[in-house]
Amino acid sequence: MIPLQEALDHVLSRVPAQPAAAVELADALGLVTVDDVVATELVPGWDNTALDGYAVRAEDVATPDAELDVVATVAAGDAGDQPIGPGQAVRIMTGAPVPPGADAIAMVERTRSLDDGRRVQVEGTIAEGTGIRRAGDDVRPGDVVVPAGTVLRVAHLGVLASIGVGTVDVRRRTRVGVLSTGDELVEDGAPLARGQVRDSNRLALLALCRSSGFEAVDLGLVRDDEAAIEATIRRGVANCDALLTSGGVSMGDFDYVKAVLGRIGDMRWMQIAIKPAKPFAFGLVDGVPVFGLPGNPVSSLVSFELLARPGLLHGAGRTDLHRRTVRAAAAEDLRRRPDGKIHFVRVSVRQDEDLGFTVASAGGQGSHQMTAMAAADGLAVLPDGDGVAAGDPVDVILLHD
Ligand code: AMP
Ligand code: MG
Repeated sequence: MIPLQEALDHVLSRVPAQPAAAVELADALGLVTVDDVVATELVPGWDNTALDGYAVRAEDVATPDAELDVVATVAAGDAGDQPIGPGQAVRIMTGAPVPPGADAIAMVERTRSLDDGRRVQVEGTIAEGTGIRRAGDDVRPGDVVVPAGTVLRVAHLGVLASIGVGTVDVRRRTRVGVLSTGDELVEDGAPLARGQVRDSNRLALLALCRSSGFEAVDLGLVRDDEAAIEATIRRGVANCDALLTSGGVSMGDFDYVKAVLGRIGDMRWMQIAIKPAKPFAFGLVDGVPVFGLPGNPVSSLVSFELLARPGLLHGAGRTDLHRRTVRAAAAEDLRRRPDGKIHFVRVSVRQDEDLGFTVASAGGQGSHQMTAMAAADGLAVLPDGDGVAAGDPVDVILLHD
């Protein structure tokens, strides 16, 4: 068995980077920037008002209840370039440019309109700068608004739009092909004959790819037949940036995925010191990374989480490859036996006012027991040993951030 870190380092060293391309902002959510994006404009573009009210000169309202002449009205979108002089005010709406000469905004709630709007009385006094958003106090030319290697989230798109960026260079979204293998598997809803198993991994892995930001390509269910497996893998590497296979990588007599990949790919077969998901294969077929995930349903998902997902994110240009891990307190004993492996226990995570995060088993921990995986929000990491007792600290990988 090899340590998990060795397997991960091996994957990360071999997954190729996705090619870069310019995409419209509207299509860029979740993609990763190739270069720093540098602003060439000011945001805001000019001093403008944060309030509806009156633009004034602070020195005119340094004494309470001053009365001023209202000489113009400026709405958002107006140039607002008519200056004001002593004793004058301009009626102004949120977002409109502050007229030259004005240096404070009196909010409308603190004013009284007089003479049909020709004059205004300002309650109290107003300090210079009140209510004004300065040009460039968000972005200045030369600012790196989005660094290289950033996953574009909603607010990044907003920032880029605010500086007039229309397209952005990103790594192309990774197309991940998924196939399941096994003569026992069926994919229709018909009653099962003895020995048959419903194919659940493919659907789950396709969904996991999508929720991790990749494009998922369904390559179907393939029989335990070398020619069929080879044909599907060849079709997959021709059309996808990466492949996930499920099943057929352990020590069984009909593990033909292993035979085919061994022949047509440059693969490494690993037994990793973890439970679940000990068997794992990784390599390249025609330069395309192929992740051979174990067939047991929980193992296939845990293997994806620990090895395939970070590998694919690395190829997608991300620097943050791992889900968040938090330190929690065990809400109950989480026992295990020493076996040289790290155990990843499916747990439900609660946030308790006094204790912070607490974790408890989410159900049966067999690698075929998907219900506990479904009920889990996290994987508690139990290093080799006897596990932890109730109240002990334990690291937990959060699965749904
Ligand atoms: P294998 O890795 O092919 O030896 O399969 C290990 C176990 O996982 C067996 O019990 C299989 O029936 C089961 N299995 C393999 N592939 C799938 C799948 N796509 N959906 C559900 N169970 C599977
Ligand atoms: Mg099989």
